[in-house]
Amino acid sequence: MKKAVIETDVLVIGGGGAAFRAAIGAREMSTRAAMVSKGPLARCGATPMAGADFTLDGLSLSKLGFPGEPEKDSPETFFSDIVHQGFFLNNQKLLEQYVATAPQCLKELLDWGMPVRSSEQRAIYTTGIAMVDTLHRQARRLGVDLIEDVMILDLAVSEGRVVGAVGLEIKTGRIIHFRAPAVVMATGGWHKAFWPNTGMRDLSGDGIAMSHRAGADIGNMEFITFCCNIALSPPRWRGSLATYILTFIGGSLINSRGETFLDQYDPFVVDKGWFMEWNKGFLSYASAREVREGRGSPLGGVWYLRGSIPWEKYEQMALAIFPKWKYKALDLAGMDTLLKENRGIEVGPVVEYFDGGIVVDENLRTTLPGLFAAGECTLGPFGANRVCAATTEMLVHGRDAGRHAAEYAKGASVHAADSVFSDLTEKAEQPLLRKKGRSPGEVRRRIQQQAHQALGPIRKTDELEGFQRLLEETEAGLSELAPQSGVRAYNKGWLDILELRNIVHLLKAATMSALHRKESRGVHFREEFPLTDNDSWLKETIVPYRPGKWEIVTRKPSVTQVKPASGKVGYLDMWKQMMAAHSEVGGHH
Ligand SMILES: Cc1cc2nc3c(=O)[nH]c(=O)nc-3n(C[C@H](O)[C@H](O)[C@H](O)COP(=O)(O)OP(=O)(O)OC[C@H]3O[C@@H](n4cnc5c(N)ncnc54)[C@H](O)[C@@H]3O)c2cc1C
Repeated sequence: MKKAVIETDVLVIGGGGAAFRAAIGAREMSTRAAMVSKGPLARCGATPMAGADFTLDGLSLSKLGFPGEPEKDSPETFFSDIVHQGFFLNNQKLLEQYVATAPQCLKELLDWGMPVRSSEQRAIYTTGIAMVDTLHRQARRLGVDLIEDVMILDLAVSEGRVVGAVGLEIKTGRIIHFRAPAVVMATGGWHKAFWPNTGMRDLSGDGIAMSHRAGADIGNMEFITFCCNIALSPPRWRGSLATYILTFIGGSLINSRGETFLDQYDPFVVDKGWFMEWNKGFLSYASAREVREGRGSPLGGVWYLRGSIPWEKYEQMALAIFPKWKYKALDLAGMDTLLKENRGIEVGPVVEYFDGGIVVDENLRTTLPGLFAAGECTLGPFGANRVCAATTEMLVHGRDAGRHAAEYAKGASVHAADSVFSDLTEKAEQPLLRKKGRSPGEVRRRIQQQAHQALGPIRKTDELEGFQRLLEETEAGLSELAPQSGVRAYNKGWLDILELRNIVHLLKAATMSALHRKESRGVHFREEFPLTDNDSWLKETIVPYRPGKWEIVTRKPSVTQVKPASGKVGYLDMWKQMMAAHSEVGGHH
C-alpha cells in the first residue's frame, strides 16, 4: 500500500482538550497546524468523559462575572492550596502559569460559546463534551488541519531533534509520514495499562512512551491517582464514575464484615477526605487497606450504602446529573433500587489520572529539541496528588505549548532523510509479517490486572519486584506476539501489539519509580516505608532517556513561592497536616 506524506509546521498529536488548544494556539501564531487523533475527533480520550469543571481562584472568577469568593480568595491562596494538596512536590513554575493563565483561558472558552451549567466559589461546571465541542468549532474556524483515526506510532528524529512522526491510518492500514519542524505531544494518560479503568480504550500511553524512546525524559511516573468509589459490579457499570458522584451526597462505606471501616480513622481526616476534593487519595487508600487485609468485596472493593441519607436527595441529584438514571450513555437502571432499598453497591479505587509524564519546562519544551508537550501526558503542576481541575491544566498548557511550538517552527527547517521515516515504518509493520504467535489481548489482560494490584493505592515491595519481573518477561516476548490476520485495514491484533509495547514501557518506568521512592507521599503509599520524608524525598523521580539502559535520577522540584516543611511525618498525619493548612475556599464538592 502506498504511503502518504503530510507536511505542516506544527504537528499536534492527540484529540482531546490539550491537543485542540495547542493546535488553536499554533494557528493563533499564524503557522500551519495539523492535529492527529487516534480516535474520532472530540469523542475520544478523557476530555469528553470529564465532569467537567474549570477551576480558578474565586477573585478571578468574580471578575469574570461569577459569584466567586473575592474577599476570601486570591490567586496566591489558590496557589498555596494546590501546593499543600500536592504534598509540596509541585513544579511551582508550571503551577504559576496554571493559576495566572486560567482566567484568560476560561474567558476565551466563554467567548467561543461554551455553555456553563453551574458555578461555585472556585469553579465553573460544564460538561467534557461541551468543552471539547467548543474547542473543536474554534479549531475548524481557524483552519487547523484535523485528522482522525490515525495512531501515531513513533517520532522521527534527525540530528538530535524531532522532524515529524510516523502514523497508522487505522481504517485503511495505510502508513502516513508527517514532516514537521515542531511537534506537540498531547496524548493524555495510560488508563489502558490497568484493569479495571475509568478511561477510554485509546489511552495506552503511546505519546509518553514514544517521546521517551525518541529521547525525552519522563518523570514522577509512580504518582497514579486512583478515583475512589468507582462502580465495580455489575460488569456493565464497571469503571463508571457515576457512583463516585453519588457519594458526594454522603452515605457510608462498609467492608465484608459489615463494618463502617472509616470509623477507625481520625474524624477530621474522614470529614475532609469524604466531602472535599481530597477524597480520591484518602478514600482510595482506606478502601485498599480493607481489601489488603482480607475484608474486601469479591471484586477487590468495598460497598457503598445510602444509610440514613434521605432517598429524595438521590432523586434530586439524579434529576440534575443522571436524568432517567443514564450517565454518559451508560444505563444505571437498577442503581436506584439498590439505593432505595439501602442495599450495598460494590465500589472501589480505580485508576483515573496520571500525575507524572513527559518532563517539560515552563515553555512546555521537553528535553528533546522540537518536541513540546501538554496536558495529562506531562509531568504537570500537581505534584504528588491532583485535586483541582486537570481540564484547566490541559487548556492552559495546551495553549502555551502550541504557541511556543509555533515560534520554534518559524525559526526551524526540516531536512530529514527518507530513511528516518522508512526505518520506523518497517519496524511498525513487522508484527503483520508474523503468521503464528501468542495473542496480544491475552497478555494485556494479565498485565492490566497485575498493574491494578502492584501499582494500586497501597504498594508492597515484593509485589512491585514480582511485577517488574513479569514486565521484563513480557517485554522479551513482545516479538513473539502475532495478530490473528495479516489484513491491514482495522487490524485490532496489530494495534494491540503496537499499544502493548507502550503499555509495558510505561509500567516498567512506573514500577521502577515506585520502588525507587522509599517513602509515602500523596497518592504513592509504600507499605514498608509509611512516612512522608521531606528530608530525603522532596524530589522528583526522573527516568532520563538512555538508549538501552533504564535508570532513575532525582531532581528538586521548582519552588518559587511556597517553601516545603522539613521532617518526617506518618502518612495519615501528613494528610491531616495538609488538609488543615488548606484554606477551604471552595473546597467542597
Ligand atoms: C472518567 C474521567 C472523568 C474525569 N473527570 C474530570 C473532571 O471532572 N475534571 C477534571 O479536571 N478532570 C477530569 N478528568 C481528567 C481529565 O479529563 C483529563 O486529565 C484531561 O481531559 C486530559 O486531557 P488531554 O487532552 O491531556 O488528554 P485526553 O483528553 O485523554 O486526550 C488524549 C488524546 O490523545 C489521543 N491519542 C492517544 N494516543 C495517540 C496516538 N498514538 N496517536 C494519536 N492520538 C493519540 C487520544 O485518542 C485522545 O484523543 C477525568 C478523567 C476521567 C478518565
